[in-house]
Amino acid sequence: MSSLKHPLAQKQIDTTDNQGNEHLVTLKVIQADITTLPLDAIVNAANSSLLGGGGVDGAIHRAAGPELLAYCRTLNGCPTGEAKISPGFKLPAQYVIHTVGPVWHGGGQGEPELLASCYRNSIQLTVDNNITSIAFPAISTGVYGYPIEQATEIAIASVIGSVKQAALSGSAIEEVVFCCFSASDAAIYQQKLEAV
Ligand code: ADP
Repeated sequence: MSSLKHPLAQKQIDTTDNQGNEHLVTLKVIQADITTLPLDAIVNAANSSLLGGGGVDGAIHRAAGPELLAYCRTLNGCPTGEAKISPGFKLPAQYVIHTVGPVWHGGGQGEPELLASCYRNSIQLTVDNNITSIAFPAISTGVYGYPIEQATEIAIASVIGSVKQAALSGSAIEEVVFCCFSASDAAIYQQKLEAV
């Protein structure tokens, strides 16, 4: 996992709470295939049926094996902006968190709030399941057409806000990885994380 050892960018977020409990969360940008990452959880940019699709969703179902689809049938879908958790089955990750990003319609139909809530609800599931490390793909920026620069700013801001909030409810999260598939996306994430 050299990509995990050598992130393109890295930042520590201080989530020390108002009782003085010290806690740092490390944010990393890497370029990788998310299905290869041996973290507690990887996030799937799913569609609302949770029954598989193209892009990262297809890659995750192929790597996890048919048990994932069978499990997802029991989840009864997922509304846009929300998240549901499953085992990782054959993946190196223990869990898959399935979230449904908004389709880009120009930005005036609640897309920024819905995209932010994908990250927030995914981080909330890490609290509920005692997850210490998680990787996100660039949700909504593929087939769903969300402009990458705007999506990246929302991803980073929402994760930082969410891990600070999660710390107040005893979060175990230590590491959040932004896993970019393309070099051009990774360069944008790198620049945006360094600017935080
Ligand atoms: P959406 O429908 O939410 O736009 P896509 O799967 O089409 O989802 O794209 C989301 C992002 O996932 C894109 O940046 C795409 O390049 C990326 N992606 C596709 N396959 C993988 C993979 N195996 N690992 C990580 N990211 C991936």
